[in-house]
Amino acid sequence: MKKALPSHKEVFMFEKEDIPRVWDFFAEEIIEFANKEEVNEPPAAKYIRPKLREWMSRYLKEGITDDFLNDLNTAIHKIRYSKYIFPLDLLPSETGFPKNGYIAQYDEIPKPEEYAADDFSKLLTSGELKRLKRCQLKGCENFFLGPPQARWCSKACGSKFRVREKRKRDLS
Ligand SMILES: [Zn+2]
Repeated sequence: MKKALPSHKEVFMFEKEDIPRVWDFFAEEIIEFANKEEVNEPPAAKYIRPKLREWMSRYLKEGITDDFLNDLNTAIHKIRYSKYIFPLDLLPSETGFPKNGYIAQYDEIPKPEEYAADDFSKLLTSGELKRLKRCQLKGCENFFLGPPQARWCSKACGSKFRVREKRKRDLS
């Protein structure tokens, strides 16, 4: 079992065949997954990805409204968690006593829409979504995490955008 990083605000765990496992959480990874297909990805990925993208674009459009949270809560409702007390070597605590937590029951794999909503809810509660952006280059529209003024997911997209803008100006 891998050690949970103490810097994690929240530790995500899931259990399969009675073995608890730490779910390493990196916002960047989820966003990268949402953007593009990976080689040898599990077949469910192609059903999860569009749902995850839907949540992300909806968040960018609507923000966190009551409707948004109601829909998200409905989508994750079926995911079952059990109470779990973290061993200290897994999650050190400042008091020296083990901490309370919850562990997702994955013996039955969640449906793609539930899985996507669960992934998105991790992004949401991590606070990382405040940096969520969408590339403004037509045809790219990748999601990325960036500062408030960022408009493109990469330097390459930024320069493509400027070339297109220049061409538009030159032709008008
Ligand atoms: Zn881009």
